[in-house]
Amino acid sequence: MNSLDAQKVLCVLYADPSTGMPSHYARDSIPTLTQYPDGQSLPTPASIDFNPGHLLGSVSGGLGLERFLIDRGHQFVVTADKDGPDSVFEKELADADVVISQPFWPGYLTAERIEKAPNLKLAITAGIGSDHVDLQAAMDRNITVCEVTWCNSVSVAEHAVMQILALVRDYIPQYDLVVKGGWNIADAVSRSYDIEGMDVGVVAAGRIGLALLKRMKPFDVTLHYTDRHRLSSDVEQELGLTFHESVESLISVCDVVSIHCPLHPETENMFNDSLISKMKRGSYIVNTARGKICDREAIVRALESGQLAGYAGDVWFPQPAPNDHPWRTMPNHAMTPHTSGTSLSAQARYAAGVREILECWLEGRPVRDEYLIVQGGALAGTGAHSYSEGDSTGGSEEAAKFTSSGL
Ligand code: NDP
Repeated sequence: MNSLDAQKVLCVLYADPSTGMPSHYARDSIPTLTQYPDGQSLPTPASIDFNPGHLLGSVSGGLGLERFLIDRGHQFVVTADKDGPDSVFEKELADADVVISQPFWPGYLTAERIEKAPNLKLAITAGIGSDHVDLQAAMDRNITVCEVTWCNSVSVAEHAVMQILALVRDYIPQYDLVVKGGWNIADAVSRSYDIEGMDVGVVAAGRIGLALLKRMKPFDVTLHYTDRHRLSSDVEQELGLTFHESVESLISVCDVVSIHCPLHPETENMFNDSLISKMKRGSYIVNTARGKICDREAIVRALESGQLAGYAGDVWFPQPAPNDHPWRTMPNHAMTPHTSGTSLSAQARYAAGVREILECWLEGRPVRDEYLIVQGGALAGTGAHSYSEGDSTGGSEEAAKFTSSGL
């Protein structure tokens, strides 16, 4: 076992709360999970230096890694300043060995940036979804890419259930009405339906997609899915699933479609004008996978024409979404910023997972196969199963257009 010499670990995290780090929390603890739904073990770092349930994903939280890295003689740089050539991220990248970034506030690792980082050997996604890294460039440069598989899959499935219900029952305008002092029931229900009896489908029944299907079953809906690999017949029977060979077949029968595939060249812009035109009029789309899986303008057009009755999700492209991103103001949406996978519960899991990956890497031990996306110049582990070769980071420089203006 050969421990690595002093490494520079560069970590991109979202900014602290506008009012400073919390002095107390809404709850005193989070539940302790014993294993993930398929039996995979939770992260197994040798130890942790943080309180599960505390804010870890912002700059001052530092994923609870500072003491661990500094005590072992490594350098740890944390920043939220990630976009544009003058950003701290781009400057510090020049001699970084390891980059850690979260999909919620992605430090885009484009081919140009990778070229400017000759020492870079490891890119860790503190979460799931490594499309903010040019995976092709990482393969070409023999950079290992890993993510913390399972860490927030159930968190996202819960968010998707919430957003399906928010759209179909039309929750957001009803809440607004109450806050504004109103009580016009007819206004409040003119777009509100029951989900019972509807056809609900997922694009991809991986960890999140399957968790969503399981959570939707008790609503007495008819469930559908499409995926590159078929689920076992036991699972299909238990949940009453109809498998579709193609996304076209799935969307033509569903009232609600929830998207759960990774973003890679095969899935980029999958939901374009042509596909959306084949959906039933008044369908709903929930996309908690990646913004770029949907054509930005096509979604706006479909909401404006009524082809879609609603669109929700928490993923945008790029992130942060520029202030004038049309999804902020399009009709009948129930968008959130990219929050589903970064609840305080999820943060504890992915902080522990990043710590596990770093412990392995720094001590010269192999990283778990299920965390691997790219290794040895090729897709590996989970990456080999779920991604395709190529790059999906194009256009990410537009993220520099966002200004927080105190928000
Ligand atoms: P999994 O790897 O478990 O599942 C992904 C599934 O997508 C696999 O079943 C895979 O198929 C399938 N898939 C890949 N390409 C296609 C395609 N072209 N058509 C249909 N299915 C396809 O990952 P998770 O479920 O944990 O996560 C899925 C995605 O959700 C992540 O990649 C990420 O983008 C997003 N995510 C979002 C979060 C958020 O905070 N909003 C947090 C976590 C994840 P197969 O393996 O059978 O080939």
